[in-house]
Amino acid sequence: MIRQKPDMPQIFDLIVVGSGPAGSACAATAAAAGLSVALVDKSPFPREKLCGGGVTGRSIRYLDEIFGVTPDSDLFLTSDSVRLAFGGRIISQQEDAPPLQMTMRRAFDATLHNHAVTAGADVFAPVRISAVDHASATITLADGRILQGSVLVGADGANSLVARSVFGRAFDPAQIGFGLEVELDRSLIEDNTTEIDLGAADWGYGWVFPKRESITLGVGGIHARNPDMKAHFQAYLARHAPALAEQGEIKCKGAFLPFGAYRKIPGGGRALLAGDAAGLVDPITGEGIAWALKSGQLAAQAAIEALAGNGPDSAMAAYLRRLAPIHREMDAARRIRALIYARPVRAYFPRAVERNPSMSRTYLRLLAGELDYADLGTRVLFRLARRLGGSLLPRRAA
Ligand SMILES: Cc1cc2nc3c(=O)[nH]c(=O)nc-3n(C[C@H](O)[C@H](O)[C@H](O)COP(=O)(O)OP(=O)(O)OC[C@H]3O[C@@H](n4cnc5c(N)ncnc54)[C@H](O)[C@@H]3O)c2cc1C
Repeated sequence: MIRQKPDMPQIFDLIVVGSGPAGSACAATAAAAGLSVALVDKSPFPREKLCGGGVTGRSIRYLDEIFGVTPDSDLFLTSDSVRLAFGGRIISQQEDAPPLQMTMRRAFDATLHNHAVTAGADVFAPVRISAVDHASATITLADGRILQGSVLVGADGANSLVARSVFGRAFDPAQIGFGLEVELDRSLIEDNTTEIDLGAADWGYGWVFPKRESITLGVGGIHARNPDMKAHFQAYLARHAPALAEQGEIKCKGAFLPFGAYRKIPGGGRALLAGDAAGLVDPITGEGIAWALKSGQLAAQAAIEALAGNGPDSAMAAYLRRLAPIHREMDAARRIRALIYARPVRAYFPRAVERNPSMSRTYLRLLAGELDYADLGTRVLFRLARRLGGSLLPRRAA
């Protein structure tokens, strides 16, 4: 980094706003490649982040690839007992399901943040940002300091300030997801099984994720389709911890997640968006950590390529090329989502899962990141549609 007079901008190759999984992956990758990196966050680390903390096989692959973090670390609890339910009725139970790792984001994100620092990123945190100029990759901090990059990466989550500077708003309210969660004492739910209840919310689900020290219980789905998410949450809590629910309304926390509404052009000017800021959350499972890690790494690689070749203005084209396989996955998942969550199908789906154990296995393999939506292919999609009642998709041409 070249330091200049206090009233002059501090100059970096790359400025990364946000040090969640996307920002830390981006900063670590770019700093390890020799770029000067400013990593800016409004919070000091460790900090809380509302999340189920379900880390899929896909996330585990990216964690190893980007940071050398492996699941045997004491950040994780492995869960391979999974129950699928629909409105409290168990429709599938598997004791040897594809493993999911369960983590607490406070410790998990602090670990990734520390990796970025060790790789050489300069940290500016905790600090608020008062202005973003995406065209020139410049940000102004609340204390008056100015940071100027060749490229800016907005990895600042679902309410992204960088996305707002480019598009005028962080997300589309008609498409955004919303989740409510509570951390429960382990003794309240002794069962150590991961549960997904596909009837707990509309276009979403409820979850019980066991952790080392606690149990995370939550309900989430498309916000506009669940005007009373709190009622869904209370009903789900009452099913699992009736004594607690009887005490009245339990304090839960809520957060937005971009449930499958990704940005086709993630950014503008010299700013690239990664992770939730780019809308990269799986439209069916709500998994966002894996795509945050991967898109953060890809944004860094795009910046590295652009600065070594055609200059910062070419970073977006380099990024879009790399993101294409993730965008294809999102598109495929959105098509399949209608077969799982749409109202006419909701009555059929649980029965279809009960009758066909291979369907729940497929869902769990998707959830665990063992299977890509593209792997499912059109053939399986049509088979699924036929099992669910036949008339949902047009018949295939002979
Ligand atoms: C209720 C709920 C449950 C979820 N459960 C799961 C799950 O089980 N598994 C899974 O894979 N995904 C889950 N997700 C999604 C997952 O949490 C996100 O997809 C993931 O955290 C995205 O990572 P990110 O780095 O893009 O953003 P974040 O993790 O949100 O990190 C953004 C960072 O930017 C910082 N920041 C924000 N604004 C500013 C600003 N103006 N200036 C500076 N810094 C800023 C924040 O402090 C934060 O550190 C869940 C989400 C919700 C809401």
